Amino acid sequence: GELAAPIAEPEERELEAALRPKNLDDFVGQERVRKQLSLVLAASKIRGRSADHVLMSGPPGLGKTTLAMIVAAEMNAPLRISSGPAIQHAGDLAAILSSLTEGEVLFLDEIHRMSRPAEEMLYMAMEDFRVDIIVGKGAGATAIPLELPSFTLVGATTRAGLLPGPLRDRFGFTGHLEFYSVGELELVLRRSAGMLDLKLTSAGFSEIAGRSRGTPRIANRLLRRVRDWALVHGVETIDARTASAALDMYEVDVRGLDRLDRSVLEALVNKFNGGPVGLSTLAIAVGEETETVETVAEPFLVREGLLGRTPRGRIALPAAWEHLGLKMPGNAVA
Ligand code: ADP
Repeated sequence: GELAAPIAEPEERELEAALRPKNLDDFVGQERVRKQLSLVLAASKIRGRSADHVLMSGPPGLGKTTLAMIVAAEMNAPLRISSGPAIQHAGDLAAILSSLTEGEVLFLDEIHRMSRPAEEMLYMAMEDFRVDIIVGKGAGATAIPLELPSFTLVGATTRAGLLPGPLRDRFGFTGHLEFYSVGELELVLRRSAGMLDLKLTSAGFSEIAGRSRGTPRIANRLLRRVRDWALVHGVETIDARTASAALDMYEVDVRGLDRLDRSVLEALVNKFNGGPVGLSTLAIAVGEETETVETVAEPFLVREGLLGRTPRGRIALPAAWEHLGLKMPGNAVA
């Protein structure tokens, strides 16, 4: 889970940026989203208008920001980046919107975390390319209409379900990003290895791809860790053994579970006897925000058949006990 989180260290961030595909052709996988997006962009180019607003949904690290950058690049438009949590007041949003240039692409990450008043301002901006700036308070408050240049909003959310209906409806197109197959992750890794000038065997690539939880950001991150390991150990060609030794050291297990994933499963099994337990209780037990557990760790654990969601809460599935090397007690729920 934590491996999928955006990268904080400056040097690592630079590397991540360098590895970003710059156009749709270099973007691996997500066939459906790529086709749909390419059609939206082609049509708007023909009409000579800015593209429809686009919503990208899916777990972190699957390429939402990358696609926003690609939209801007393909439309030959500048890109402005902000995020829901950064927009707490309607005024914050008004400031961004009023400084956009004609045709600009505005990327709003974690759009579901915007404040209510900002969200309502965004409705009007998306639909009519204007906003009402409220000046004054109470009975004396006046709305000053402000015309905006036409722009393309690219919103990103970890879960489209978290978005209020009226906001969701104002996007011309929603792309649901799926976890990547091991084969697709191998392609991502081959491309990155080429850019970083690294030599890997096919088995080396598949070892890393298999531990990357279906997520390109994680694949690239693990590749960099393996690269460090190879450098220090004087390994020239990275094979499966090198990759697996390096990744074992970084506590990424053979199924790709990282520390957060395992601590969620361990809490579920050890503290709650396998559940069912409410999501927020589980989050407190691992010392994480509910949203992190729900959007970062859980989708992967569910997909792997390790964790189940029931009306009464989360449960550890038999595979979870097995993965942790534990015997499932007779009185556990699953
Ligand atoms: P998100 O915004 O969904 O969290 P990003 O767009 O920031 O994810 O992607 C994280 C990293 O993963 C990027 O640096 C990029 O290099 C890589 N990446 C994501 N999707 C792809 C893809 N389809 N093909 C190649 N690399 C990708």
